[in-house]
Amino acid sequence: MNMPAGALTIDKEALKRKYAEERDKRIRPEGSAQYIRLETEFADLATDPYTPLVPRDPVTDHVTFAFIGGGFAGLVVGARLKQAGIDDVRIVEKGGDFGGTWYWNRYPGAQCDTASMIYMPLLEETGHRPSEKYAHAPEIRDHCSRIGETFGLYGKALFHTEVTGLEWDEDRKVWVVRTNRGDAFTAKYVGMGTGPLHVAKLPGLAGIEKFKGKSFHTSRWDYAYTGGNPEGAPMTGLADKRVAIIGTGATAVQCVPHLARDAKELLVFQRTPSSVDRRDNGPIDPDWFAQVAGEGWQRKWQDNFAANLGAGFPNEDLVNDGWTDLAKRMRANLREVPPSEWTPQTMMAAFEDADFEKMEQIRRRAEELVDDPETAEHLKAWYRQLCKRPCFHDEYLQAFNQPGTRLIDTGGKGVERITENGVVANGVEYEADCIVYASGFEVSTDYVARAGFDAVGREGQTLSGYWGKGMRTLHGLHIRGFPNLFMVQPAQAANFIANVPHNIVDHADTIAAVVGEAERRHAATVEPTAEAEQAWLDLLATAPARAIGGTECTPGYYNNEGAGWGDEAPLFVGHPGGALGYFAHIDAWRRSGAFEGLAFG
Ligand code: NDP
Repeated sequence: MNMPAGALTIDKEALKRKYAEERDKRIRPEGSAQYIRLETEFADLATDPYTPLVPRDPVTDHVTFAFIGGGFAGLVVGARLKQAGIDDVRIVEKGGDFGGTWYWNRYPGAQCDTASMIYMPLLEETGHRPSEKYAHAPEIRDHCSRIGETFGLYGKALFHTEVTGLEWDEDRKVWVVRTNRGDAFTAKYVGMGTGPLHVAKLPGLAGIEKFKGKSFHTSRWDYAYTGGNPEGAPMTGLADKRVAIIGTGATAVQCVPHLARDAKELLVFQRTPSSVDRRDNGPIDPDWFAQVAGEGWQRKWQDNFAANLGAGFPNEDLVNDGWTDLAKRMRANLREVPPSEWTPQTMMAAFEDADFEKMEQIRRRAEELVDDPETAEHLKAWYRQLCKRPCFHDEYLQAFNQPGTRLIDTGGKGVERITENGVVANGVEYEADCIVYASGFEVSTDYVARAGFDAVGREGQTLSGYWGKGMRTLHGLHIRGFPNLFMVQPAQAANFIANVPHNIVDHADTIAAVVGEAERRHAATVEPTAEAEQAWLDLLATAPARAIGGTECTPGYYNNEGAGWGDEAPLFVGHPGGALGYFAHIDAWRRSGAFEGLAFG
């Protein structure tokens, strides 16, 4: 069937064939094993370039609540616990300060991709007005410090510290937390918020260790070498350098314009182009903000965004961005179908049509903005928008018009190897002074491998063992056999990936409520019942299949590099009612005060 997209007519069948061809070119038998770990393979490249390590004595005390990870999850949970009167909260963080992914990612141009009004947590509680619709990383990092300071989370925090062991002591009813700094302290409750994007990976390329020039991963940007700073000052150190950047994902899209501006020459090695839609960033007007920011404003905005991405027909779109645009197109297509004919199939067809139109527009954007037609052609993304992380940027495509910047497209094959002098692709050696690896983070490795420890619960049960056949939780948060432990992550809960902090704030509300209740009851433990956990999994089994991560997509971390998620796929879902369904369910659950499904002991 053909369909119009603006002035163009889309041949849907031809497009589907093209998508399949482009995907097939990129399937690699080694899947996720094509990557190597920065930390283990190149320890010197993995060290923290931002904060010196301060020696300290091991900690052996007791706290009421320990949280593993000092990103948004730890900060927001810590804040809510403090508000609930739990004073001794300890955050353990491997970076040198709070921030998590925003601590490490200081590459030039780093910026949030979801509107700051809904993305930056606790704006209302901290009284901060974001400066831009999409805040840049330094402002987000400052905001992390602001949350830490506002809620007194610095005092007990342990930075540059990685948890190496977490074990439940049934006699004392405490968790014993061990770290790589020799700490062995106890905590009544533990939260885990180690996030999916904190273990940096490199392509496992032959010769990678042989390169004689400078190289670094984008999450360890070496400003001492490049000059400049995270605020975007010119990188004067690159003025006489030929820089190669490997990778064209969300990170590269943000830093390429800066490298194109400052390097003498820039070579961008591409395996798969990103879809790069318009960004439309701009300052937030203080007068407008003062009018908008009445009591409860941020929750209202977050809920409105979730509603716009949900199944209903909300009558206003407060955020108005690339995410809600796609949803609005889908709704518009659906409105053309009489409600009596709405079925899961017609909904999926409306979604597919909206996606085809959107991607066609994005491909046309490359033609419009890139001077060289061949380069423009190579920058076109041939897959559905949610097959890979959608990107939004107003200077990325134009960067290829800079005289010193060249796209080295590899036709889906990728860089072949690294030599002493540079990068080999398409059989050609390209010499370079510096190689920047914009090669992303581990996502598809198992949770324990990424966290660096395996929690040991009641009767010596390990989390990896308990989850041997897939993740099992109540509400995505509580795990049977692991008392007083809370897992802060989106799956089996709202699973609202377009605005992860919304999931986090909601989980933090639940944790504060549950801990508050346990303390009121003088309970030593709180844990889900086996029946409640199973009933929750049964409910999740009625949820629609994941909208992202299918094997029909071009490979990437969304679909485990093309291999898909196998038997575990049905477990990586959210509430059958979507994000809003989950938020409403859990709000009612919290308000009822019954804490149904949890056993207090
Ligand atoms: P990604 O995993 O998205 O990208 C890695 C890139 O490296 C891909 O383009 C990949 O190509 C490429 N690559 C890997 N091996 C080779 C090779 N041998 N030759 C050439 N290219 C290669 O990592 P990012 O750091 O870009 O992004 C990770 C995630 O972090 C994002 O998806 C997003 O969730 C988050 N992020 C969020 C931002 C925000 O909110 N503002 C900003 C930046 C990142 P291929 O596609 O073919 O696999």
